[in-house]
Amino acid sequence: MNDLKRIKTLAEAALSSMRERLVPPTPENFQVWFHYHADSYGDLTRLIDGLLRDKAAFDQRRNDELYARFFGGEIQNATLNAAASTEKILQEVLSQIGLANQDAASYAGFLRETASKLEGGVSAQTLPALLSGLFAETKRIQERNEALESRLLNSSEEMSILRRDLETMQRDAQTDGLTGIANRKRFDMEMRRVLREAEETGQPMCLIMLDIDHFKKFNDLYGHQMGDQVLKLVARTMKDCVRAGDLPARFGGEEFSVVLPNAGLAEAADIADRIRRTIASRRIVRRDSKVELGGITLCAGVALWQMGESVSGLIERADEALYVAKRSGRNRVITEEQVRDPDAIKM
Ligand code: GH3
Ligand code: MG
Ligand code: MG
Repeated sequence: MNDLKRIKTLAEAALSSMRERLVPPTPENFQVWFHYHADSYGDLTRLIDGLLRDKAAFDQRRNDELYARFFGGEIQNATLNAAASTEKILQEVLSQIGLANQDAASYAGFLRETASKLEGGVSAQTLPALLSGLFAETKRIQERNEALESRLLNSSEEMSILRRDLETMQRDAQTDGLTGIANRKRFDMEMRRVLREAEETGQPMCLIMLDIDHFKKFNDLYGHQMGDQVLKLVARTMKDCVRAGDLPARFGGEEFSVVLPNAGLAEAADIADRIRRTIASRRIVRRDSKVELGGITLCAGVALWQMGESVSGLIERADEALYVAKRSGRNRVITEEQVRDPDAIKM
């Protein structure tokens, strides 16, 4: 099949899939479904296949999340729009200032002219006309200045609104749409920041990596929607168990992480185990039918940052501990220390 033919076939398949699932034909949704049919990204294909299997609803939240997760371009568009608005406001302000300058110059000219007339001597007949001309011109310039002031005030309000919108967008861009905790982008930023700080102060810092046990089976048994509820529960629990200043984040899919500035390995392991215990003690109940679906568990790997180590080096070691936790029976927290001393791990 040649390229154009293939693109047409994919576009038609995307539109037809969207129609069938009542997905609005917006450019964003089209992009998601086009790439799903093209199988451009394995993760996207697998996720949508799972959703289709579960007959999940493609409501607006789901559509937005799919787009944000895989294409996430809305912040760029919004930033471009904001930049265009700012430019418009600035141009308006500059043109107002230009007009005000012209006004001031013409008023100064008028005053000079009046002064030279006065110096030349005026008669009692011409004085009232001169004075009333002076008053009229002064009043005109005063009104122009007031109008300018109110326009500038307006522009400044528009700029404040724009700034608030940008702040909201920035927060949204760093928040995971499903769970409401920090997303991967924020995690990456925070890791770099905390690492720099630890390098400067020599304070310890730790990383916890968490992964839900047998989550694929849970999704297969109870559907993606219930799976999503579990992800929200894990995020909430993490938030409740960490200290102020720690950053719980959704690392990706069903993997979570916590960045812990100023924490030693034992303290971080304690927090990880509190999360693990809390999750293991919960019973998952279907909201509508109140049917109990049983429990879920998770594993965590904990690593202490070593001076000079990179972000990816630390993630790798926490992941290694997580892998050992999985291998040694799941529903466990393993620290890097236990990885180095396998005898310490009870199988
Ligand atoms: P293990 O105990 O070894 O971690 O097994 P697992 O089944 O949890 O691991 P696996 O990596 O095989 O499967 C991860 C599953 O997580 C598959 C995927 O469908 C699911 N998942 C990833 N993201 C989401 C999501 O946003 N929502 C839901 N419901 N499921 C998700
Ligand atoms: Mg996983
Ligand atoms: Mg898992």
